[in-house]
Amino acid sequence: METPANIAQDIRFVLVGTQHPGNIGAAARALKTMGLSRLVLVAPEEFPSEEARRRAAGAEDVLAAAAVVPDLAAAVADCRFVLGCTARSRRVQLEELVPRAAGEKLLALAGDGPVALVFGRERTGLTNEELQLCHAAVHIPANPEYSSLNLAAAVQVLAYEVRMAWLARGPAGDGPAGRDAAGREQPASHAQLESFFAQLAETLDEIDFYKGRSPDSAMRKLRRLFLRADLSEREVRLLRGVLADAQRMARQAAGTG
Ligand code: SAH
Repeated sequence: METPANIAQDIRFVLVGTQHPGNIGAAARALKTMGLSRLVLVAPEEFPSEEARRRAAGAEDVLAAAAVVPDLAAAVADCRFVLGCTARSRRVQLEELVPRAAGEKLLALAGDGPVALVFGRERTGLTNEELQLCHAAVHIPANPEYSSLNLAAAVQVLAYEVRMAWLARGPAGDGPAGRDAAGREQPASHAQLESFFAQLAETLDEIDFYKGRSPDSAMRKLRRLFLRADLSEREVRLLRGVLADAQRMARQAAGTG
């Protein structure tokens, strides 16, 4: 499922002063895997570059479309909302978001105009002046003793969260129909599960599973097991098909079918 073009176009990933061209290529790949494509490079140390192209591994289109600008102000001038990604929680006067909230916020605003996520240099991150241009900060809550991700890995985490936010829109929004936040199928309803349990109890009786014991204890355990499985509508239909076949065979064997 591809992210709609207007959303992909509006969410800008800005890399500031990138030192290793390989990271630019890997960032392009990270974006493309998540259905995103807008890369803006602020004064990269080396670009275009063969190493960037190699690491893009099939996302050369994202690299080729990347804009190169001289400073961060130029990269975000037309943006309604700008988030700065920081490897350390800093004492800047900025609200700090976790990536999940950042993805939701960016997605909510995209479609009405450009928004940006800004990533710093490999060695030194973003300067305080650059962070001042941001409306809020995003920190990936990593190991506090070792919290600095590789630049392209940080891009991947944020791009993934944007995608998850989009998938969560479900049938009503532009997200994929019939799927929930995790991209899974429509979960079975309470009524569908109860009909399945009724058919299960009936089938167990017909195949003589209870052998004279009370059905309650077996059904309690089976209910717990199936409820834990978080079944989708489609999975319930499949299970009911299996039960229907078992019932048909049991009835044939009993000469009642
Ligand atoms: N040594 C630098 C880290 C740079 S890592 C520093 O201490 O600031 C390069 C960029 O990747 C960072 O500027 C940031 O934009 C992003 N990044 C790395 N780890 C991150 C994390 N845990 N949370 C958010 N962004 C992170």
